[in-house]
Amino acid sequence: MMPTIVTSTSRYLIAPSSSRPRELGVGTGQQVARQQTALLEVMREDLLAKDEADVLRSLTEKTAHTLDVDRVSVWLLSDDGSELRLQDLFDRARGLHESDGALESAQYPAYFRALSESRVLSVVDARRDPRTLDFLEPYLIPNRIVSMLDAGIWQAGARRGVVCVESVEVRRDWTPDEQLFVASIADFVAVAREKRALADAEHALSASRRRLNEVFKLSPDPMVLTRAADGEILDVNESFSVDTGFSAEDAIGETTVSLGIWFSSEQRDKWLLELRTNRSVRGMEVEFRMRNGDLRTYQVSSQLTSDPEPTVISTCRDLTSSRRRARLIHDIAQGLAAETGASFFRSLVEHLQRALDADLAFVGSLASANADVVNTIAVHARAGAEAPLTYELEGSPCATVLSEGVSAFPSRAKTLFPRDGLLKQYDVEGYVGAPLISSSGEPLGLIVVMFKQPLEQTDTAMQLMRIFATRAAAELERRDQIDELAFRATHDLLTRLPNRARLEERIDMSLRQSDLTSRGALVLIDLDRFKEINDTLGHRVGDRLIQSVAERLQHAPALLERPRFDLARTGGDEFAIWLPDLPSDDAAMHIVTAVRERITEPVALDGYRLEIGASVGVALYPAHGEGASRLLRCAEIAMYQAKQRGSALCVYDRANDPYSTVRLTLMAEISTAVRERQLVVYFQPQRWLSDGKLAGFEALVRWRHPTRGLLGPGEFIPLAELSDVIRPLTWEVLDQALAQLSRWQNHSSALQMSVNLSARNLMDPHCAARVAELIVKHRVEPSRLELEITESALIKDPDRAEATLRELHESGVRIAIDDFGTGYSSLSHLRRLPLDALKIDVSFVTHMLHNAQDEAIVTSTIGLAHSLGLTVIAEGIEDAATQERLRTLGCELGQGFHISVPLPADDADRWISSAT
Ligand code: C2E
Ligand code: CA
Ligand code: CA
Repeated sequence: MMPTIVTSTSRYLIAPSSSRPRELGVGTGQQVARQQTALLEVMREDLLAKDEADVLRSLTEKTAHTLDVDRVSVWLLSDDGSELRLQDLFDRARGLHESDGALESAQYPAYFRALSESRVLSVVDARRDPRTLDFLEPYLIPNRIVSMLDAGIWQAGARRGVVCVESVEVRRDWTPDEQLFVASIADFVAVAREKRALADAEHALSASRRRLNEVFKLSPDPMVLTRAADGEILDVNESFSVDTGFSAEDAIGETTVSLGIWFSSEQRDKWLLELRTNRSVRGMEVEFRMRNGDLRTYQVSSQLTSDPEPTVISTCRDLTSSRRRARLIHDIAQGLAAETGASFFRSLVEHLQRALDADLAFVGSLASANADVVNTIAVHARAGAEAPLTYELEGSPCATVLSEGVSAFPSRAKTLFPRDGLLKQYDVEGYVGAPLISSSGEPLGLIVVMFKQPLEQTDTAMQLMRIFATRAAAELERRDQIDELAFRATHDLLTRLPNRARLEERIDMSLRQSDLTSRGALVLIDLDRFKEINDTLGHRVGDRLIQSVAERLQHAPALLERPRFDLARTGGDEFAIWLPDLPSDDAAMHIVTAVRERITEPVALDGYRLEIGASVGVALYPAHGEGASRLLRCAEIAMYQAKQRGSALCVYDRANDPYSTVRLTLMAEISTAVRERQLVVYFQPQRWLSDGKLAGFEALVRWRHPTRGLLGPGEFIPLAELSDVIRPLTWEVLDQALAQLSRWQNHSSALQMSVNLSARNLMDPHCAARVAELIVKHRVEPSRLELEITESALIKDPDRAEATLRELHESGVRIAIDDFGTGYSSLSHLRRLPLDALKIDVSFVTHMLHNAQDEAIVTSTIGLAHSLGLTVIAEGIEDAATQERLRTLGCELGQGFHISVPLPADDADRWISSAT
């Protein structure tokens, strides 16, 4: 493209759409093929081997070439979501990459909002579209951008960035295929990032191993690392040397036995047995001999690990030391330091109960600041952990704790609070409690210890409780935040429904649990015209509409009747339903239809009565996929199709999936098939209806696929037509057909051969020359060859098609219009073309005796064709009555199962001999 110097904005507004003619039809097929190839290439790249920036650079370049646009970029969202940062921008006209730049969400609210609502933003006129209007002055004009196609990068249910495709100076009406392609590229970026994150996590893991090493070094307790296989000491820490008197040099390379540390071999055997059976030993009391001969009692805990080789790590706690009690308190803090979540609270109460020698300890939380009960999170009595309980605050010392702060009732607690059932139940004399206060000063809960005996060291107990209350409050707050974060990461906040990532998890989980015979359906529902409602009535109404649809789904009777189902909001105006354990595929369709009816009933919102439409895509398990991501993709494609066709509901159909793996592989195999002569041509006889004599054959290709068996043309011709491989395929069929014709010509010179040409052949400037070459090669009479062309092949580029037809016609070859009646062309339209014959399509002929409309079409077509001097062939004659009727209507030729099915060459030979 010529770089233009820009002086005024007006020149962009008239983007000449003719400056780069967008091909329809053939072009679209070609594009899909290009997109598929690009995706395949991208998928093959080794993501981790390459630098992340390299991956992005090759991705933007590939996307720009594939979609034939000037600018493609990848942006990632900052952690706080406030700005998009440019990772790579490929400017095709200049052949340059850039990676400097950021877009602040505050400056482009409409765009950011639109991005969070849909997977793909297709913006045809970026200078007028409200979603991109904010970019006009700062971005669109200086970069001469007219159309944009942006796809969000989604990871774990959250938006992480965007892939932007920008068309410079040329207006683009993005096709669904192009949209799907960009979405696939964005998915790919997400996958690449996930893989990288995984690699980073592994890296971090080895860092945590280093940290473990530090713990080892600094621990106040003696620690020993031994090799499991032979007990050789691999390492000891400083405390080990201090306590035992053996230095690291003394110990390493020896074993605990050779050092003589074990006082009793029975104790050692017991330790070893327990380690072997449980892979760990918890607090076993043993006696160790020090270097100077002293004996000391230790509590040994050991753990067998297998990294990198089987190793035993042992910690020895000195029980004879006078520091024991102080250490216990220190331990609570130490032991708790590493714990988080539920196990933190469990250890806290356990340690408190033990350290203070209490009869009961618990930590509880308040549902809200002014709740009247406490729900315990963990309870520990002398005998061990207890079941959770709900504790009435009124008339309890806990109420005092919450209002007054840390409080102690050293004796007579149960008499002071006669209404407190728990105090009575445990026969409580002493009580100490501390409130858990959030960082903002709100009470979150409390920790309590209770004693059956009057309390002696009240001050120590209160001190201890105060210390741990601070830590427990922080943990409780953190737990709530983590719960909230976990919820946010897996749910949509507007509807409180699970998000896409969560849904995928749920589906995969339910599939793991289901048995082999189970069936399921994944349903994707996309509201029609939601964007319009959002833009015209405002986001508030839009949000409310989404909420009301979510509610309707949650209460849809057809779903509530099911034993299980999962709902999710998977995108801005997109919902999904997972239906496991279905008795049949039909059952799925019944449910889906009922649910769709329910959600499309008009909604009254803010005084508006909103009619909402919904397009529904369905993917069936196991027919369409065996895992969540595959099923989601299939449902998405089906949903796309429903939208495209304007139909309410579509079930996934592999044949319509441009990215289905079966199709991609078949496409890749077709050229091999042509080269390796896997294509076979069958011949279907055509008869003169007036006297029943054989007129000739139509050549119909089949593919003897090495693994899939004999494939009919319906399974691969449409694929071949997507790429240039249809050309060699056509020449291969023509070659075989003419070879056969020349053989038959020796018997009966009047036979003719019909061969199908495809639209792409007509676009090939060498087409006529190639046909002529083959005619010469097989020494057949040109007029014996009839080339069948479908109407649709002619409409796509009428001028080029006509030029090729003329050349062919001039060489003496006959031309027939195939499938007549199925396209849009009228006979008068075809008048200017050099035609010889017209084939009435199967779909009109087969039922013409029972369907008056079909018969009328057949009758009038014959009449019109004759008025233009064309011979008429009827295809699809399945019985004698139809053949007879066609004869009386004046149709010259017939073809169909009633006469014969398409036959392999040998059978066709025999058919000729028996028919004549
Ligand atoms: P077509 O050109 O319309 O071919 C006629 C199709 O109708 C053939 O299907 C034939 O088997 C079928 N047919 C014949 N008689 C009857 C009948 O009495 N009733 C019914 N219901 N069907 C009948 P086939 O062989 O599966 O071919 C399907 C299509 O594949 C063809 O439709 C043609 O469009 C395409 N095709 C086949 N061979 C080639 C080829 O070599 N090149 C190209 N470009 N297309 C081909
Ligand atoms: Ca045909
Ligand atoms: Ca046909």
